[in-house]
Amino acid sequence: MSSNCLFCKIAAGDIPAEKLYEDDDMLAFRDIAPQAPVHFLVIPKKHIQDPAAISAEDEALMGKMMRVGSQVAGENGITDFRLVFNNGADAGQTVFHIHMHVLGGRSLSWPPG
Ligand code: 5GP
Ligand code: ZN
Repeated sequence: MSSNCLFCKIAAGDIPAEKLYEDDDMLAFRDIAPQAPVHFLVIPKKHIQDPAAISAEDEALMGKMMRVGSQVAGENGITDFRLVFNNGADAGQTVFHIHMHVLGGRSLSWPPG
């Protein structure tokens, strides 16, 4: 738990979120400003700032994020989806607790702007 971290507060239940999945070390919840018909975030409850801060001991946790995100996508009716990690402000990161976006339910353009 990092004090003053929005996603640590959501993970702790101190700030409400529309949860789609939760277990001891992970949480999936809907993005407050969805960019697609289905748009949710997957976070580890452990505070990790961004992908560049992932350590070797986090490798299993990061793999689990991809599995959970893909499964929750299926449970929410989408078979085609995009998994996105933004690292750093220029890449679009605004919350500095690592999170994986899961976006789907419409056709998505590539490359991103
Ligand atoms: P980033 O831009 O850091 O990759 O993504 C952060 C995401 O968190 C954004 O898509 C933003 O809409 C979402 N977000 C920011 N604050 C909140 C919040 O309080 N609740 C929820 N559910 N999502 C949030
Ligand atoms: Zn945090």
